[in-house]
Amino acid sequence: MSFGINENYLKLPGSYLFSTIAKKVEKYKSEHPDADIIRLGIGDVTQPLCPSVIDALHKAVDEMGKAETFHGYAPDGGYEFLRHAMAENDYRSRGLDIADDEIFISDGAKSDSAAIEEIFAKDAVIAVCDPVYPVYVDSNAMSGRAGDYLPDKSAWSRVIYMPCTAEHNFAPQIPYGEKPDMIYLCFPNNPTGEVITKDELQKWVDYAVEIGAVIIYDAAYEAYIDDSIPGIPHSIYECDGARSCAIELRSFSKNAGFTGLRLGALVLPKDLVCKKDGIGNGTSLHSLWARRHGTRYNGAPYIVQRAGEACYSAEGKAEIKEQIAYYMKNAAYIRQGLIDAGFEVYGGVHSPYIWLRTPGNMTSWEFFDTLLEKAQIVGTPGAGFGPSGEHYFRLTAFGSYENTVRAIDRIKELKAELL
Ligand SMILES: *Cc1c(COP(=O)(O)O)cnc(C)c1O
Repeated sequence: MSFGINENYLKLPGSYLFSTIAKKVEKYKSEHPDADIIRLGIGDVTQPLCPSVIDALHKAVDEMGKAETFHGYAPDGGYEFLRHAMAENDYRSRGLDIADDEIFISDGAKSDSAAIEEIFAKDAVIAVCDPVYPVYVDSNAMSGRAGDYLPDKSAWSRVIYMPCTAEHNFAPQIPYGEKPDMIYLCFPNNPTGEVITKDELQKWVDYAVEIGAVIIYDAAYEAYIDDSIPGIPHSIYECDGARSCAIELRSFSKNAGFTGLRLGALVLPKDLVCKKDGIGNGTSLHSLWARRHGTRYNGAPYIVQRAGEACYSAEGKAEIKEQIAYYMKNAAYIRQGLIDAGFEVYGGVHSPYIWLRTPGNMTSWEFFDTLLEKAQIVGTPGAGFGPSGEHYFRLTAFGSYENTVRAIDRIKELKAELL
């Protein structure tokens, strides 16, 4: 006699994308110890936290050292000062109706995007973009909602995949014939770097309302949207009816460099209620999530929430804007350099990700090897994000400007060999 385990974990395909990449790079390094490798692969920021955030952290640390200003457990949903700053700056100042208590502070969008499935029925059907940020699918697979993994298709049997291809500017198309209950969307998108227009997103909201589905909208990259090009929504709540069908995920990671500090938020409007006949009818998802959050989570640290608040001060906003501009200068350099070299290039305008088509119909892993061996550049093979990512490759703008320029100049020099 012994305990059993959650068998769903056994269904997960092995070899996580970034560990495979790390192994290949390690092997190359051991064979070429002097190689000057430039990493434009992983989606992590490299610039230090801005001065306003550092000041807020120092101040909050000092408060924690005095009995009068010490803070213990944070409120479950987050401190009012941060919920208010987010609701005010990210929503109400843009004319979007979101109340402070519809924002739940968390340790990041990864945790929230993985956890949100817990409040839905086990037989709910999920729809995801292909290619996709892997967390949405794997979290559902772990709870048994994804069915079985089909290795020959690189896909799960109970998941609706919505191919995002060049043909439709990498926007998903409304599933034909199949009806999802939970729809995961992420714009600006990781990995394609492409965006959805407000008009296109409105169609998704209308569809979700019509069929009674919920949209989980990952807005982790909204700060990268270039507003000089109109029509790109920063929030799904810019669409009519979204309050009754959409949950939005926010993160401080990619805009303010909090990947190591950890802070995010989940927005859940009180209008979102279960409309299924029978058990649960009329239940507000807001109350379920509040219950879930209160049980499983004890709040993001006080000092980190103060750091998050500092992102909304006038100085904080200006400093963050500068940081995003730094990465977007890299993105523009990568994008233009690759276009000049003759590549087919997407993304990189409203996003730190550049999505390129591999030359000569190479597989994305073949191109990974070629780029590593001939130019000592590490990127991310598109196939790692789903079947429709095959023949594509992701480069990120999160490196230093100097390294970005060196990498792209290498690609230009080697274009005859690479193309
Ligand atoms: C990086 C990333 C996140 C992770 O955000 P954290 O707040 O750091 O957990 C979420 N979604 C997407 C699509 C990302 O690329």
